[in-house]
Order: sequence, then C-alpha cells, then structure tokens
Amino acid sequence: MILRARAIWARKGRVITEGALQVCGDKILKLGRRDEVLPDQGEPVIDIGESIVFPAFVNAHCHLDYTGLAGELTPGNSFTDWVKQIVDVKRSLTQEEHESAWLAGAGMLMQTGCGTVANIESIPGMFARLANQTPLQVCPFTEIIGYNEDDACEALELARRELSCNEQLALVAGISPHAPYTTTSESLSALAGLADELNVPTAIHVSESMDEWRMFTDSGGALFDSMRALGRPSSDCGLGTPVEHVSRSQGLAKRTLVIHANQLGESDYGLLAKPGVSVVHCPGSHAWFGHERFEYERLAKAGVNICLGTDSLASSGGNGSAQGLTMFNEMKRFSNQYPEVSSDEIIRMATWNGAAALGLRDVLGQLIEGAFANLAIIPLTNPLADVSDLIVNHAGPVGSLMIAGKRVFSCPKTIAN
Ligand SMILES: [Zn+2]
Repeated sequence: MILRARAIWARKGRVITEGALQVCGDKILKLGRRDEVLPDQGEPVIDIGESIVFPAFVNAHCHLDYTGLAGELTPGNSFTDWVKQIVDVKRSLTQEEHESAWLAGAGMLMQTGCGTVANIESIPGMFARLANQTPLQVCPFTEIIGYNEDDACEALELARRELSCNEQLALVAGISPHAPYTTTSESLSALAGLADELNVPTAIHVSESMDEWRMFTDSGGALFDSMRALGRPSSDCGLGTPVEHVSRSQGLAKRTLVIHANQLGESDYGLLAKPGVSVVHCPGSHAWFGHERFEYERLAKAGVNICLGTDSLASSGGNGSAQGLTMFNEMKRFSNQYPEVSSDEIIRMATWNGAAALGLRDVLGQLIEGAFANLAIIPLTNPLADVSDLIVNHAGPVGSLMIAGKRVFSCPKTIAN
C-alpha cells in the first residue's frame, strides 16, 4: 500500500512535503517524495491530503493498570504519603479492575498516537493474559519489590519466570526493580546481572522525590523511617545520592531506563550519560507532585538519552480535572517549560529516544525504510506553520494510527480518517 500525505515528519531534521510511503506487511518498504515512491501494479494508493504523518509515539514509562486511578490520589504532604495511598488503593482493587484499567489505558494511548509503551507490570501473569487483547506494542517490565535482606533469590526467580513467558509475546520484555528504596543492594545487583545475562533492559524509578534523596544522602526523612519500620536494612543509606547508590550497588544494567531522576548530584550526570543508560522524564506527573525543576539542560549537555513518558494516572487529575494518558500532553507541557527546546527535538524525545532506550532504534521511533510501519496521522491545520510545531501542539485523538502495518484506530471526526 502507498500512503500519500502533504507532509511526512520522518525523523528529526527530515520533513518530506508531498511525501509518500510504501507499507509492505508490517514494515515500511520505501519513503520519499510522491514522485519517488510509485505503486507496483495493482497496489492500492491512499491519498490522505492535508495531513501530517509521523512515527507513532514510544512512551518510555507507564503503569497501564493504574489508569482507573485518575484523580483518586493526592500528592499529600510528601511523596511518602502518596506511596502509602497507592499501596492501600492497589490492595482494594480486584484483578478484573486492574485488567480493565490496563486495557483502557492501552486504548487511550492508541487514540492519541502511541504505538509502543514501556509498561511496568506489577501483577505477575497479567501481561501474558492481556497481550493479545490489544494491538499496542506493550513492552512489559516485571516489577520487583523486595526490601528484606533475603529477598534477592525470590526476586530473581520471579523475574526469570515472567521473562520466559513475556519474551515470546513482546518486542522487548524487561525487568523493573521498583526503586532503590523498595529493593536491597543485593537484589539490585542480582537483577541487573540477570538482565545482562539475558540481554534484556531494566527500568527503575530513581531519585523521584526529596524523601528518597534524604533517605540515601542523610539516612533521614519520612521515606527512610517508613522503610526502616517495614524492615528494610538501612546500612546502605547515607552514603550518596540515589543514582550513586544504584551505581554502587551494580544496579545499572547494560540497558537501563532510569525513571524520573528528579534530584541529581554532580557525579550523577556522568553516571547517567553512560552508553545504554537513558533517563525518562514524565512532565505531567512531575508537575503534579510539584517536584523541583527537571535538570533537562544539564542532562542533555552531558549527552544523556532523555525520553518522555506518561507515567500513570495515579499521579494526575484531582480537583475535578480529568486527565488521560496522552503523549501530546507530555510534549506540550515539556515545550511550555523548556521553550528553547525545538519541537523537532521534543518529538524525537517522544519517539526515537524511547526506541533507542529499548534497544529498538533501527525499527521504531522514526519513519525509515525497514522500520515497523508504526505511524500516526493528524490533520495539517495550517499549511504555513512549522510541521513539528503542529505535531507538538496537537490535542485530542489522532486522525488515525497504524501499528505494524495495520490500522488500529481511526477518529471519524477528522479528514485523515
Ligand atoms: Zn512509574
């Protein structure tokens, strides 16, 4: 099939006007100007006219099963308050509620142009049950929580068991030691070792809050007290920043997605710039918690691969405001906060940088020959405007979304249907 459009945002620095792409099976076979990409005999040609085609988003961090929690929680007096709230709410939900929330979240992401998501799977076996119920390319990261001294063996067993099921059902499956405060140094090291042995990525929440910062830098604060009360050993606290703690514990696998990285010390930038390590920033949840400014400029200057993620709806909404999972909101919020960053770069953070973090840089996150035909379409509302700006400023559903060559969503209201 040949798809023709007024504009194709193929990757950062390459917008093709009067473009065309040829989709064969689940891949892009050819891409160029419409006079360069001609149909084979009998091949269907679809001209979508005044539209923009761009790579489907790669959402680098999400918890789909918390989609039902929009507006249910509050940022509380501290991050530790929020952790207590989510632990209680999770206990009150049935498996059916978790599963329907997961599927609803997948639907929200696809409606807003997302083709792939790095999702934290907190319930063993759930991804395997749901994977074939959505065309969204979910990359499951099995969440591991284990803060007692003898938890490392059980953590490894769970990770191995889940990976062996999930790997067959996903483009990429990984492991997610939840956070330094809910794991021990031993399990961090063991899980990173397992990830490297099996050549899979890890994702870990690191340095999300001031409470976590205090726990690892001063052995103090509400999170330190609450984890100590739960039996977590504290001899690894008070020795440096949370990022230093993970690194010292040999907890950075060859491919690691460091989620948040909100509070950073001088030496952390170098640790996060190591090849294979990426940082995922979630602008919506960052603002909801009221964290200090994300150090985008210093991280970018250090050469860190910075991706965007939606995080979950458990850190959104409230006060009557409704919120959905959408990468457009994340890009827009980031753009408002960092107006000096070009829209071209922001789209790359929402697409290719996430693909690179997952080890899929050649097949996802940009429209090139040989990549998956994962593409989103929105109307070209102003032919004189910059195409990248139009993408970043788009709101609401996309006109259409294709994942692996199949149309999986169409919005009847737009011309790009
Ligand atoms: Zn998270």
